[in-house]
Amino acid sequence: MNVVIMSVMTTIVIAMINNMEKENIIVSACLLGVNCKYNGGHNYCQKVVDLKEKYNLITICPEVDGGLQTPRIPSEVVNEKVINKDGVDVTNEYNLGAQKALDKALKNNVQKAILKAKSPSCGCGYIYDGSFTHTLIKGDGVTTRLFKQHNIEVLTEEDL
Ligand code: SF4
Repeated sequence: MNVVIMSVMTTIVIAMINNMEKENIIVSACLLGVNCKYNGGHNYCQKVVDLKEKYNLITICPEVDGGLQTPRIPSEVVNEKVINKDGVDVTNEYNLGAQKALDKALKNNVQKAILKAKSPSCGCGYIYDGSFTHTLIKGDGVTTRLFKQHNIEVLTEEDL
C-alpha cells in the first residue's frame, strides 16, 4: 500500500475515533444555517456551529418534521395548543415534530440540546404569548417541553 493511501486511511480512522468519543447533542437546524425557518430563512449562529469541535451535532426541525411547509404561516403557543396567524390549529403537527425529535434524541443517547430561543417549538424559558405582537411570556416551546419531561437539558443559543 502506498504512503499516500496509508496516510489518508490513518486520517479517516483518527477522525472516526474522535467522532466516536464526542458526546451527541441536538441542535435546531436553523441555528446551523438551514433554511427551515417559517419565512424560508435561517437563524445562523456561529457559536452553535463552533460546538462541532466538541460535540457531534444532530439536527432537528420539529416544524418541518411534523409535516409543515417552508415557508409557512407563523404560529404561537396558546395554552396547550399551537395556533397559526390565520387561526388554524397546528397542534398536531407540532406534537408530531416534537415526538420525532425526542425519538432521535433517545436513539442517539442525547442528554443536552441547544435550541432556538423564543420559538413555539424550540424556545426555552420564554416564548411569544399567542397574540402575534412580539410579546414574550415565560414558557417553553412544544419540543423543549417534551425534552425536559425526559430529562434532556435544554439551552438556547442565547445561553452560549
Ligand atoms: Fe428552527 Fe426549531 Fe423553528 Fe425548525 S422549529 S425553524 S429548528 S426554531
